[in-house]
Amino acid sequence: MTNKKSFFREATEAEIKHKNLVKIAELSDIAGLGENDFTILSPLTPRGYESARKFMKHGPEVKPKRYYSSEQALRDGRTPIQLREEAFDGIEKYFYCGYTFLPIGRDRRKRKVSLVECLEGARIYAYSHQVRGAEIIIKPYADAKRVRIDGAEIVCKVPSRTEKQGKINFKLISVPVVDCPEKHSVSLNIGSDHSCNSKRFNIRYKYTDDKEGSGIVNVCAHEIAAYLQVIEHYWNEKNIIPLQMCQFAIPSQKTVDFYLRLGNNVLVRDETLKSEDKLRKMDRADREIALWSRVKKDKHDATFYSKRSRDGDVAEYKWR
Ligand SMILES: [Zn+2]
Repeated sequence: MTNKKSFFREATEAEIKHKNLVKIAELSDIAGLGENDFTILSPLTPRGYESARKFMKHGPEVKPKRYYSSEQALRDGRTPIQLREEAFDGIEKYFYCGYTFLPIGRDRRKRKVSLVECLEGARIYAYSHQVRGAEIIIKPYADAKRVRIDGAEIVCKVPSRTEKQGKINFKLISVPVVDCPEKHSVSLNIGSDHSCNSKRFNIRYKYTDDKEGSGIVNVCAHEIAAYLQVIEHYWNEKNIIPLQMCQFAIPSQKTVDFYLRLGNNVLVRDETLKSEDKLRKMDRADREIALWSRVKKDKHDATFYSKRSRDGDVAEYKWR
């Protein structure tokens, strides 16, 4: 079994069972659990999906307003953050597997971002700042002629969450770094040459004609962590464009606290399990749905908009 680095470690099922059992009325009450409390939920994945994996692949998506040409994006003029605010504040339920956006460049595969990956990306970024030797290293290749239209290419080295694993290398492409009309289309085309388990999800569909599967790129925590470092890098040069045009939702400290409760203070009673007590930890889909329930209740700005005056620096967030 591979061990997670201590920064990423969560309470085990056995450890959680030793805490004080508390009953809660609704999902949002998870936020009020003390460090030594735990609660038991029913599985959150709605009926009709045979597994958490299927739900994460085919469940409903939140869709910020879409554009089908750069002219259209430009005419509207709103930034990705504003579009997310509109979409997140408008949700009427919370059974979602993530939010999606459509590029308007050559690679038109739909980009899918789950809130769990946004949290994990923020966690890797905080880790890289709070633990010596874990820095995220980025090297932008911003060729002045092409960068306006194609965005910057940025080579990234991101630490792994697994013990004794070296840094992960990849390249982010189409990173918006220039304040020009093309920044809208550049940011929608954000991509990378990275591959890992969180992204691999759909790979087996590449060779079949499953339209959904072949048309989706799952954004993972490594890419989000790297992008946060890109924001910081350009911010230090007084360039706010990567932040302004960021396609990834950045959690508030309160959302981080809630997410930590999901991993450390909640068990799920799952009747399909063979074990006697039928308890397990929350799976990916449970966590994703719980996060969306938070968004539905507290809205975008309180949950997935990091405000320096309220939250401090994302790099300094408390994850333990
Ligand atoms: Zn990854």
